[in-house]
Amino acid sequence: MRDHMADNDETWMREAIAAARQKGTSPADTPIAAIIVRDGKALAVAVNETQENCDATAHAEMMAFRQAGKAAGDMDLRGATLYTTLQPCGMCTMASIWAKVGRIVYGAGREDVHKMYFEDRHLDTMDFIHDAWRDDLRIEGGCLTDECAALYYGPDDDVPKEEQGNV
Ligand SMILES: [Zn+2]
Repeated sequence: MRDHMADNDETWMREAIAAARQKGTSPADTPIAAIIVRDGKALAVAVNETQENCDATAHAEMMAFRQAGKAAGDMDLRGATLYTTLQPCGMCTMASIWAKVGRIVYGAGREDVHKMYFEDRHLDTMDFIHDAWRDDLRIEGGCLTDECAALYYGPDDDVPKEEQGNV
């Protein structure tokens, strides 16, 4: 039997996938999206804008934190859930700790996509969460993984070097 939370998670993740697809349907379009939800309401819907803004920090999650903070009138997003189509990188995982969201739910995981999406060889950003002073933050993968992973370059895809942002 499916629980209510899981149904909710899939509903929001579908919205995130739709937002990502609006950027484009090719992995070259960097279709990564994040949604921040609190009390059943979206505080932010954002996509990756690194190329558009000439800003290496304009990951979907970072854009979502900026939007949600303004919407909430507070940088503290305690009680909110961050949905993201791709497992957050180190920067966005750390930002999640600072922003004080309560849950991170992601679609495609590190092992489902090309290594170009993560900055480190071995460091598992999950450890940032487990090592945080905060004990009220959870991270959960596996929400619509296949649909999300289909947006990105796969582990064995031959990606043009100029598209690989981490090298
Ligand atoms: Zn990131």
